[in-house]
Amino acid sequence: MSEKIELIGLNKDELKKALLDIGEKPFRAKQLWQWLYYFGETDFAKMTNLSKDLRQKLSEKFTISRPKIVTEQISSDKTHKWLLEFADGQRVEMVYIPEEDRGAVCISTQVGCAVGCRFCHTGSQKLTRNLTAAEIVSEFMVARDAYHEWPSPTNETRYLSNIVVMGMGEPLHNLDNTIKALNILTDGDGIAISRRRITMSTSGIAPHIVHALKETGVRLAISLHAPNNDLRSQIMPINKRYPLEEVLKACREYQDGDGSRYITFEYLLLDGVNDSLDCAQQLIDLMKKYKLRASFNLIPFNPWPGCDFKPSKKAQIKAFALALEKAGFAAPVRVPRGQDILAACGQLKSKKDQENL
Ligand code: SAH
Ligand code: SF4
Repeated sequence: MSEKIELIGLNKDELKKALLDIGEKPFRAKQLWQWLYYFGETDFAKMTNLSKDLRQKLSEKFTISRPKIVTEQISSDKTHKWLLEFADGQRVEMVYIPEEDRGAVCISTQVGCAVGCRFCHTGSQKLTRNLTAAEIVSEFMVARDAYHEWPSPTNETRYLSNIVVMGMGEPLHNLDNTIKALNILTDGDGIAISRRRITMSTSGIAPHIVHALKETGVRLAISLHAPNNDLRSQIMPINKRYPLEEVLKACREYQDGDGSRYITFEYLLLDGVNDSLDCAQQLIDLMKKYKLRASFNLIPFNPWPGCDFKPSKKAQIKAFALALEKAGFAAPVRVPRGQDILAACGQLKSKKDQENL
């Protein structure tokens, strides 16, 4: 008997084809899509607008899977972290960061990461493999299962209202799968997260930035973290491959295509490394030079075992933010969430040593 086909992760055309291949009419794809992504149903037997025979046939040919939840932790600030395991035993972490009446799910795109930023826990893990589109989509579906957000709620009533592609991995190193997953997550007949409520963060894989955004329509965040090549290459070795000029040129091109879009520049503040007022001035000059409509997101460094960097002092963070604000840029300081369970930015990891923490 041939192996069953996993339905999660197929786009609409692929779903039609899968139905055709088992001798069914392609219009069934619409119903099935709704069951998968609007109702979040995982049991063919419960798909009541399909005939009994069809339900039986579907269950013989297809599967609807979720990753296994290995562990779940909830922080004192209600941040929720899952360690998920896929069919081959590989694991990633995913985080839900609740706000008062909404919240963001932080999803991973790779097991580990090849970029190797010096301050990032994930980067210390090396890359094991890319996630498939199915795996990326199914992360979010696990969060929806947990918060009982099926069928897809309206925009106003959903708690899981936003997605940030800021978990493990570099999304633009897993370009096609990330694009495909985001297009499934935003499809209006299913999960229907608005494209404006999704932010994809990249360390700056310059050649793919414009393409990825054109194909998905989501918001862009760039992990900048330093205002010149010397410093950036020291803490983000990827900068040697794609130096600041190339990254910022791609940002310019992106804004040339869609003038209404702001770019968020994430800036991690490391004590005595990149937090001087001179660095702030260099940043301002860069934004002006490339004529970027930008806002900053200042990130206090989240420590993790084995990393030598220290978070900047509070007064220094304040002064840095003020300098940017005076130059006309929004520069909120990100409040670290879920630090007590290592769920904050840059703390995610899926190796065994994480389990003993
Ligand atoms: N790979 C992508 C997205 C995942 S990282 C990227 O690098 O943009 C999400 C954000 O967390 C990035 O801005 C990243 O630089 C930041 N980050 C990494 N390590 C961190 C740490 N230890 N403390 C705070 N933020 C960190
Ligand atoms: Fe990878 Fe992003 Fe971590 Fe850098 S910060 S190592 S790109 S996950």
